[in-house]
Amino acid sequence: MVTREDIERAAELIRAGRLVAFPTETVYGLGANALDGAAVRRIFEVKGRPPTHPLIVHVESVEMARELAREWPPEAEELAARFWPGPLTLVVPKRECIPPAVTAGLDTVGLRVPAHPVALELIRAAGVPIAAPSANRFTQLSPTTADHVRRALGDAVDLVLDGGPTQVGLESTVLSLAGRPRLLRPGMILREQIEQVIGPVETAGRIENGLPHPSPGLHPRHYSPRTRLVVVRDGLLPPGRGAYMWIRRRAPAARTVQMPADAAAYAARLYETLHALDAEGWDWIAVEQPPESAEWSPVLDRLRRAAGPEGH
Ligand code: AMP
Ligand code: MG
Repeated sequence: MVTREDIERAAELIRAGRLVAFPTETVYGLGANALDGAAVRRIFEVKGRPPTHPLIVHVESVEMARELAREWPPEAEELAARFWPGPLTLVVPKRECIPPAVTAGLDTVGLRVPAHPVALELIRAAGVPIAAPSANRFTQLSPTTADHVRRALGDAVDLVLDGGPTQVGLESTVLSLAGRPRLLRPGMILREQIEQVIGPVETAGRIENGLPHPSPGLHPRHYSPRTRLVVVRDGLLPPGRGAYMWIRRRAPAARTVQMPADAAAYAARLYETLHALDAEGWDWIAVEQPPESAEWSPVLDRLRRAAGPEGH
């Protein structure tokens, strides 16, 4: 439970240039004042994240987003009206007030309004936009509970706001609107849903056969558990059946985790399941490949990146 006092304390820390981990509907974020370059650089230190990976800036309203954007195209207005607050990050040309550390020196900034009361209250109380990547070490599994954050970052974070498990469970969809609309990272707001609002959206290179992603900050290996993970291709699920996560150690020791058949429910539980399996010390985790349909594409993307170039 997060109290009003917790929010006030967290907001003070943010204003003082410190780091606060907080829940969003996607995963837990490691937040700093987005207008404070030194505070933002500490995020990179704590995560061990290369400075070439831009951060998403969290805002509490479309108005706050517009104040940070040098251009705010009609597509941004329409998508924000339709999907904010929600798991969609819009990349637009940035204003001077955003320090280069936030955007990895790029002239664009990724913005979103998170759909989580704690995140929104924190931004409002702090009175500044909050830059926040996932609150984990670079390339590892994103945290979907406050406990995951504490285990990954320990004392390196000044405060963790515990808002319970996150609802969406996968990182936001990232869409560039600097130039022709381009999908930089799939997420639970599907490309098809975006296209219904603004028309055709390009894909920034497909993550197939472990080929490096052409966009900045998108590693082929990311979102990974420590345990080796492979995506089992020939176990394509028959329609209408549950999706399975199949884990094995040495035969005959093996166990199977049954995952939800519904893509959104599966996504919400994926990282939690991988975190738990990581802690059990298996030699490897085999994940039955979900269907190749649109609704499963964000899950498939994360599984392939969790597996890395060798694992699928
Ligand atoms: P994370 O903070 O770990 O959820 O990752 C942020 C994601 O947003 C990364 O995939 C970044 O590449 C992407 N991103 C953020 N800002 C920008 C930007 N200005 N241009 C392109 N991609 C961005
Ligand atoms: Mg991350």
